[in-house]
Amino acid sequence: MQKEAAPFDIDAFSDQCRNNGLRITPQRTAIYRELIRAGSHPSADMVYQQIRRQFPHIAFETVNRSLLTFARSGMLRIIESRSGVRRFDPVLTKHHHMHCVQCGRIIDFTHEAYDDLKIPEAILKKYEIVDQHVIINIICPVCRTNQGG
Ligand SMILES: [Zn+2]
Ligand SMILES: [Zn+2]
Repeated sequence: MQKEAAPFDIDAFSDQCRNNGLRITPQRTAIYRELIRAGSHPSADMVYQQIRRQFPHIAFETVNRSLLTFARSGMLRIIESRSGVRRFDPVLTKHHHMHCVQCGRIIDFTHEAYDDLKIPEAILKKYEIVDQHVIINIICPVCRTNQGG
């Protein structure tokens, strides 16, 4: 089952900012809205490319910094793509990811049996667990079609 990100909710966004002591600026609002709209776990650069249409003078660093601030405030999650580029995920409810090994697309899915996977004792003893989710490497339907197979 695939998950759709909830539509952008300006009131929820404002509440989250207030709760975290973040100033609500037009830029920050646009950045968060774009993250939700993209619905594809965008990188900072993908968000920047969209935001600069609206704010031609905005710097990449401003976009990047805002995304990292949202992450620190728990308003989004950072996930690593196969290429090592940081990607951002506004869906905070429990879900898992499929990574297309060809185009790098990251697709959400839910599967209850994966939600409470037991972490081995040896790992728990040594490390503090921050987050756990399952990643399945795939070739997505678009890439499979392009391969002609
Ligand atoms: Zn693909
Ligand atoms: Zn996700």
